[in-house]
Parts: sequence; structure tokens; C-alpha cells
Amino acid sequence: MEHDYISISALNDFIFCPYSIYLHNVYENTDESLFHATPQTRGRIAHEAVDEKKSSTRKDVLQALPVYSEKYGLMGKIDVYKIKEKYLVERKYQLRQIYQGQIYQLWAQMFCLQEMGYEVERMAFYEISTKRTIPINLPTDEDIHRFELFLRSFRNYDPTKPFQPNLNKCRHCVYCSLCDKTIEDNVYQ
Ligand code: SF4
Repeated sequence: MEHDYISISALNDFIFCPYSIYLHNVYENTDESLFHATPQTRGRIAHEAVDEKKSSTRKDVLQALPVYSEKYGLMGKIDVYKIKEKYLVERKYQLRQIYQGQIYQLWAQMFCLQEMGYEVERMAFYEISTKRTIPINLPTDEDIHRFELFLRSFRNYDPTKPFQPNLNKCRHCVYCSLCDKTIEDNVYQ
């Protein structure tokens, strides 16, 4: 199957606001300090700890492994995969709430791992700030169908179509100061 690859990290952003994906592509090569606000920066540092392989040195743990799925046209990185336990973990600095897009990201990582020959029997988020583990169910057939429809809507998104921004989201959006759809101010400024 041929398609443009979707970055796993964009799945949650698309649910937050589809237009933010368009802006991300427009400003991809821009200085990050223009739009990376405090929560995102902390999240990035959490990921850098994984990327730099500081969180564990055990040999049966894969960290920051680049993954892709031919079937779903997805690419990205897993945070932590414990090979013997068949256990996939995504670390976040803080998780006040778990959004559907974040669950889609975990599922996407699982689909990629499966295609690469790794089994996943359990998955969870790990909140670094509280050292809390939050187990997430493996997707059912119905969940997978919903996920596939979601990927289709992602691919078919047209940023030129009329769009009504959710101002509450705009206030918490890292692209707020760069976005032509809103005159709201970002709360992080
Ligand atoms: S500022 Fe608002 S409309 Fe613009 S990308 Fe962010 S959430 Fe979407």
C-alpha cells in the first residue's frame, strides 16, 4: 500500500486542532523557541531522557527505537519497549488527563512494533512527575476500525476549507501567535 507517512507524534495534535498540523508543516524549519511553550518543553525533555538512553540500560529494553508501519503509513519512535514482558510504555512528564489522541499514538506504536515482529501484550503511560503508571487497554477490533477511519480523516484534511477555531484550545495552542485563524493570546505568553 502506498501513502504519505504520518508522524505518530502528529496524531494527538490533529485531534487537538487539525489546522495545527498544517501550521506545523508551514513552520517546520522555524526556530522552535518561537512556539514551544512551557508544557511542551517539559514534555520534550522527558523524551530527550529516553532518546539519550538515560532512563534504563537493560539490554531487554528498547528505547527511542524508530518504528514504522507500511500498512498504516505511520512512522515515529517508541519510548520504551520491554522485550521479555512485551510491554510498551510511553513516558510523559505530566498527565492530568489522557486524550484519545495520546491513546491513538500508543496504538500506532504498537501496530508499528507488530509489523516489525515484536509482540505487544500490555501498554501503559508513565507519568514522570508522579511516578505513576496508567495501564491502557489493547485496541479491540472496533477500536482498530475507529483508528483507521481517523487516519483517513487525517489524510483527507483540507486546510483551505472554512474552519471555526475553538478559542479555548487556541489559548493553549503553541501556534497561537502564528495562526491566522485566531486573534487569541496564548496563555503561556
Ligand atoms: S491557534 Fe487555534 S486554530 Fe490555530 S492551530 Fe492553534 S488551536 Fe488551531
